[in-house]
Amino acid sequence: MKVIKIVSELRAVIKEAKRLGKTVGLVPTMGFLHEGHLALMKKAKDGTDVVVTSIFVNPTQFSANEDLDSYPKDIKRDMELTQEAGVDYLFIPSVEEMYPEGYSTYVKVEGNITEQLCGITRSHHFRGVATIVTKLFNMVLPDYAYFGQKDAQQVIVIEKMTRDLNMDINIVACPTVREEDGLAMSSRNKYLSSSEREKAVILSKSLFEVEKKINNGERDATALRNYIVEQIKSVKEADIDYIEVVNAETLHKIKTLKGDVLIAMAVFFGKTRLIDNIRVQI
Ligand code: AMP
Repeated sequence: MKVIKIVSELRAVIKEAKRLGKTVGLVPTMGFLHEGHLALMKKAKDGTDVVVTSIFVNPTQFSANEDLDSYPKDIKRDMELTQEAGVDYLFIPSVEEMYPEGYSTYVKVEGNITEQLCGITRSHHFRGVATIVTKLFNMVLPDYAYFGQKDAQQVIVIEKMTRDLNMDINIVACPTVREEDGLAMSSRNKYLSSSEREKAVILSKSLFEVEKKINNGERDATALRNYIVEQIKSVKEADIDYIEVVNAETLHKIKTLKGDVLIAMAVFFGKTRLIDNIRVQI
C-alpha cells in the first residue's frame, strides 16, 4: 500500500492505473477505522482492480459547535488496517491540500433531501459532504464509490448529486455493520461512557422491533414512530434529535408504509450524537 498526501501524486497513480485499463474503487472515510469501514474496503477490493481509501476529517461538513477538533484519530492503526484490507492507495491530504487559501467553491444539493432529518440541525453538513465527495471523485475518477447505509441520508444525497451532475460513477451502498449487541459501529461510539454505551443499544433494538412489526403486517407509520419514541424516551440518558418514517427517495414523511421506506433517527447520549436507520421495501 502506498500512502499519498498530495493531489498531483494521487492523479499520477490513477492516470497510470487507467492507462493499464484497470477499474478504480474509492472508499472515502474520516478515519478512526472500524469494521464498518473495512467492509466497504472489502467490497471495493472484490469489485475493482485498484482500491483508493481516503482519510480526511472534512472541516466544511462540521458546524462550529460540533466535534471537528476532538474527532478521534489513530492514523498509525488506520494505516495497519488499510494495509491488511488490501487497499492500494491511502490518500491522507492535509486541510491546506484540500482547501488552499482562497478556496471558495461548494456543491449544494438543494431541496427536501438535504433539509430534512440530519439537515434540520446540521444545516451546512451536506454541502460540506457534497463538496468533499465531488473533489475526491474529481481526483480519483473512480468507477465505483462505496458508502455505508449507516449514513442513509448521505447515500441518498450522493446518489442524487451523482445523477444531477452526470457523474459517471456507480454508487455502491453497503449494509450497516453492527456491534454484537446491535449498536451500529461508528467512530463516535468512542465518546460514549460505559453506561451510555450500554444504553445506546436501544436505538438498534427499537429499529429491529419495528422491522418485526412491519414483517407482521404493521403499515401505520405513526404507530411505528410512536413505538420508537416511547422506547428511546424510556432511557433517561437518551435525548431525541429526530425520529422519522419517510419515503426513502424524497424524504417526505409518510402516514402509511408503502414502497421504499426509511426509518431513521438521531439521538444524543450526553454530547454524543448517534444515528441509525433501517430501509425497507414494502
Ligand atoms: P465516516 O468515517 O464515519 O465518515 O464513514 C466513512 C464511510 O463509512 C461512510 O460511507 C459511512 O457510511 C461508512 N460507515 C461508517 N460506519 C459504518 C457502519 N457501521 N457500517 C457500514 N458503513 C459504515
